[in-house]
Amino acid sequence: MSSTSPIGFTQQPRPLVVYILGWGRSGSSVMANILGSMPASASMGEVRYLWDRGVIDNGICGCERAFSECAFWPSLPFGTETLNAIDPDRARALVRSVGSGARRRQFPGLHNGRSRQMYFERTATDLDLLMSLYSAAFEKSQSQVLIDASKSPFYALNLLYRKRSFDVAFLHLVRDPRAVLHSWKKTKQRQDAPEGQLFPRYSSTRSLLQWVVVNAECERFAQLAPDMYFRIRFEDFAENWQEALLSGAAPLFEAVSGKAGVGNGRAALVHAQHSISGNPSRFVVGEITLDPNTSWRDDISQTDQRLAQLICGPAARRYGYAMD
Ligand SMILES: [Zn+2]
Repeated sequence: MSSTSPIGFTQQPRPLVVYILGWGRSGSSVMANILGSMPASASMGEVRYLWDRGVIDNGICGCERAFSECAFWPSLPFGTETLNAIDPDRARALVRSVGSGARRRQFPGLHNGRSRQMYFERTATDLDLLMSLYSAAFEKSQSQVLIDASKSPFYALNLLYRKRSFDVAFLHLVRDPRAVLHSWKKTKQRQDAPEGQLFPRYSSTRSLLQWVVVNAECERFAQLAPDMYFRIRFEDFAENWQEALLSGAAPLFEAVSGKAGVGNGRAALVHAQHSISGNPSRFVVGEITLDPNTSWRDDISQTDQRLAQLICGPAARRYGYAMD
């Protein structure tokens, strides 16, 4: 593949962003922490929230310091400023242009044609600065691989189509829709917000419909970046993460591990990461044991089971889930 190609592993080794794609509550935070703790890599958490949950809210980084006190993020450059000097109005505009506020409904039109051109024309300057920010993050972290657990397929397009000095691989993380539904219904405290807010809760129908739509959007990357699209089920990852990576995403495993031997089965060694946003599991460090968490099987109601079969059945079976 040519070194000028916007997609794919280049002939000359370049730094690599591993972008985790998927719907919320699929286990991406723990996956990012494990991958980021590998010898050649570091995790940045969900970079799409950098502007709102980082710069504006001054939320808690994965290093357990407030964003403004973190040793990694504040001094990174964005244009002529560093992140700690970005004006709040400018940060709010960035949320809407290239951050978490960019509209998902623009997504279908962005794959081709005029709407994509208009989007990239409108946001060209910010996107170029964003790509430079990722480059600076490589330099500061001294890592060859950076993990971005943003998950959003829409935000992923920012990286896919932009000229940049690093490669991008897409790791689509899928989880049983019934486990995801169970998680979305739970009350969960956010540990990374100053006021101790709760994570949002979704109804069964909303969670299941979103599961179908978002996973379908993520799968489009199999066509958009065929050499750089990998898919893994959370259940396989939790059972034996190293084996799951080797069978589903071997080139990525090689890149993050630096070809060194690492843990096996459910055991993993996790270091603190400078991660923006994510599930509370991103604060758990040291020797961890992955939990496939199948408690939903005992708790799920017959109504939810039927709804999951009805709404997610065909796609879930295609991913290998027995839905009966
Ligand atoms: Zn930090």
